Amino acid sequence: MKISIIGSGYVGLTTGACFADIGHEVICIDNDSNKIKSLLAGNIPIYEPGLEELVKKNVKKGTLHFTESIEEGVEKSLVIFIAVPTPPLEDGSVDMTYIEKVARQIAAVLKDYRVIVDKSTVPVKTGEKVYQTIKRYNSHKSEFDVVSNPEFLREGVAIHDLLHPDRVVIGATSERAIKIMKEVYAPFKAPILITDLNSAELIKHASNSFLALKISYINALSRICEAAGANVQMVAEGMGLDHRIGKHFLKAGIGWGGSCFPKDVAAFIKISQELGYDFKLLKEVSQINNDQKEIFLRKIRNVLWVLKDKRIGLLGLAFKNNTDDVRSSVAMDLARVFLKEGAIVQAFDPKAMGKAKELLPSIHYCSSALEVAEEADCIVLATEWEEFINLDWKSMKSKMISPIIFDGRNLLDKKKMIEMGYHYVGVGN
Ligand code: NAD
Repeated sequence: MKISIIGSGYVGLTTGACFADIGHEVICIDNDSNKIKSLLAGNIPIYEPGLEELVKKNVKKGTLHFTESIEEGVEKSLVIFIAVPTPPLEDGSVDMTYIEKVARQIAAVLKDYRVIVDKSTVPVKTGEKVYQTIKRYNSHKSEFDVVSNPEFLREGVAIHDLLHPDRVVIGATSERAIKIMKEVYAPFKAPILITDLNSAELIKHASNSFLALKISYINALSRICEAAGANVQMVAEGMGLDHRIGKHFLKAGIGWGGSCFPKDVAAFIKISQELGYDFKLLKEVSQINNDQKEIFLRKIRNVLWVLKDKRIGLLGLAFKNNTDDVRSSVAMDLARVFLKEGAIVQAFDPKAMGKAKELLPSIHYCSSALEVAEEADCIVLATEWEEFINLDWKSMKSKMISPIIFDGRNLLDKKKMIEMGYHYVGVGN
């Protein structure tokens, strides 16, 4: 199958590499000329485990190509995926300018039948608008279909998620488009759910909001556990063993961040409001998340008292482990607060320091996790990188002014840390 993907970011590039790997002929398109130049030169602009190898392998095989030209992609491919950003606007609604622009760009060069597939996360009814826009601006009056195919990958394990999806959702009404989409996904051996366009679009926002809800639920429980002298990790384990609940997304911490949950929950609240439903439950999910960060900051201030001139060692900057993505990262939010209150922030992240530096140049970036402890008044662990578990915590302690650790991800063994002489502050334990 000949496929083009417009937008070669976290979703577009990983999807393109996986499609190429399972045997499709793929063109990845981006209007960021530096990104395309870098890809053509063999450099991968993002960190995603396994991606570099997969891209190189398929470029060599001749099944993965890069270009800035949408015209080339539309001309050479039967299926055109859209994977451009859908960032939030100030009021929580979605900035649809990227999608709208791409729809017009496709329309301008559309000459023969094509399947236009939206992979970006969009408000319900976007597919209808994309269809109308392409129809309006297509001077050749070519035939085409619009399909919704939401993406559920998790950064950090994106290749696994793309190659072994729990389900593939295809929102379409045209039999011709459905047949083609089934061929695209045939090699994946995943369950395929065919729905109408609107339902497919809703599935994505409904799923992400539900996952965010699950995390906020356990975070709310963490406060009850703290007040009652219980342990939220044990409570989560006991709940998660019930298969109706499941153990995933039940880790208490400093709240959800990243490029998806905050914007998708805000968007879903807004979409529901526009459709006449006040989604109070989701408003509370969002509020719990904001409070969770504040409560953690309060704990830090309670121990350190004044943050001004304190040296804070920050472990982790990415919004989660195994990625370099710092968009809406809670770790970055914490760093901003520390800096604003006059603290010195010395940070380390295995992969995200390059991207973090562009946003927060005033952090002192360390070359190792050990350096973070140097003369530190405390350490704040903000991203759940596995390598932080096995740090030489004894050496870390010997370098600190006072051995205080705020474990925002409940990553470390509280008992062991206390035995080692740390003042340990976790979340709900
Ligand atoms: P991203 O910012 O990493 O990538 C988007 C790319 O699109 C960028 O490289 C940008 O230069 C390019 N682009 C923008 N306008 C363009 C145009 N007119 N022509 C060509 N290229 C253009 O974003 P992302 O994280 O890959 O997310 C893309 C979409 O997928 C969003 O809607 C997001 O909500 C959704 N999504 C993201 C994830 C995730 O984990 N990142 C998971 C599921 C769904």
